[in-house]
Amino acid sequence: MSNVIVVGGGSSGMMAALTASKQNHNVTLIERNEELGKKLLVTGGGRCNITNNRDIEDFFDKIVTNKKFLYSSFYTFTNRDLLDYFTSNNLEYKVEDLNDHKVYTKSDKSVEVIETFKNDLIKNKVKILYNKKVTDLIIKEDIIHGIVLENGDKLYCDKVIISTGGKSHSHTGSDGMMYDILKKYNHTINKIYPALSPLTIKEGWIKNLQGVSMQKVELSCKIKKKKISIVGDMIFTHFGLSGPCVLITSSYINKALENGDLQINIDFLPNMSIDEISNIIRENPNKNILNNLKSILPQNFLKEILGLLNLSDKKANELNKTDEQKIIEYIKNMTLTCNGTKGIKVAQVTSGGVSVKEINSSTMESKLIKNLFFTGEVIDVDAQTGGYNLQIAFSTGYLAGISV
Ligand SMILES: Cc1cc2nc3c(=O)[nH]c(=O)nc-3n(C[C@H](O)[C@H](O)[C@H](O)COP(=O)(O)OP(=O)(O)OC[C@H]3O[C@@H](n4cnc5c(N)ncnc54)[C@H](O)[C@@H]3O)c2cc1C
Repeated sequence: MSNVIVVGGGSSGMMAALTASKQNHNVTLIERNEELGKKLLVTGGGRCNITNNRDIEDFFDKIVTNKKFLYSSFYTFTNRDLLDYFTSNNLEYKVEDLNDHKVYTKSDKSVEVIETFKNDLIKNKVKILYNKKVTDLIIKEDIIHGIVLENGDKLYCDKVIISTGGKSHSHTGSDGMMYDILKKYNHTINKIYPALSPLTIKEGWIKNLQGVSMQKVELSCKIKKKKISIVGDMIFTHFGLSGPCVLITSSYINKALENGDLQINIDFLPNMSIDEISNIIRENPNKNILNNLKSILPQNFLKEILGLLNLSDKKANELNKTDEQKIIEYIKNMTLTCNGTKGIKVAQVTSGGVSVKEINSSTMESKLIKNLFFTGEVIDVDAQTGGYNLQIAFSTGYLAGISV
């Protein structure tokens, strides 16, 4: 039996503490907030997209950064294991197969996930310290011996698990302060980028479309000749674009945006050919173009693009081929200039963090400091939306918990 300290009471820290205590270790979980799981509370718009119902093999395609590092943790503790854990603890969930196979709490309340963990932590005699910020680690000759609290108190132990999260949504407690502490002890912290963030767009007219949401569009972008193409829903905002397919795109282009603006192309009707759209434009020759197109696209979207082309009042039979092509170009290949993301504060996850080269992926132990382990978003791993980031937190938390 070892004395284990887990720093950070988010999703991965709660799982790590629980798992370690079930291995009969003496576990203390330290959280700087007055409550556990503040970030978990805001996940999935407050209803917590716990994981995804796809086969675990299919998760790897959804990992944006360092997928190979996650093989051991995902296969050691799969999405099925996670759902079995919730079932055995009386937490009901639902699978939304029509919504990209996402899994949510049945009640649509993320607080239930936190309560489930909290009850189990108490049942398993994990000592929870609230309102305690860890400000340093006690490391001698590359072995960790404990942690230092903000008030100077030192707590000694055999093993430490760092579960302090990334840097996004810092009001939830994960503000990236642990990166600087780890740097002091020679861990490499890969540069931080906002991931799953809305995108800002240069073209000023975009704000006229604020609030217009579009379903199943195809958003593409080229980075060093590599085409990135994501299909999903999006929404126009006063600064640019947001919504699931935009957030996912941001995770793939965040680094490239540092070198300058990027061109983004949107196909608003990826399942419709140019000829099919042309036929719809001309369906009723005496009707205004907007009236013909409104069966397939939102009116406020059409109003804006026809206005930009000075074709607002044109009837279908007055439209020449060149203008028809211009309309179709806006629908099938709208070209926009992306000049940034909305930044780390707004991003859902953090890309970057502790280099995976310095962590043993089979145990989550540091390769530099003995008895020091890592879980969750503090590590340089990130995934698309869909429940994959929480599965990373739970799987790495579990693996660290059985490895201490
Ligand atoms: C708005 C939003 C919605 C999201 N929705 C989803 C979703 O639906 N599905 C999904 O899969 N993912 C979602 N995510 C991502 C997911 O929440 C995170 O990837 C996951 O919570 C990371 O877990 P973690 O344990 O690594 O870190 P966190 O959950 O951030 O926990 C870290 C904890 O450590 C504590 N801490 C930090 N530093 C210290 C310190 N020095 N001393 C003591 N305590 C410290 C913090 O207070 C915090 O409680 C969402 C994220 C956001 C911001």
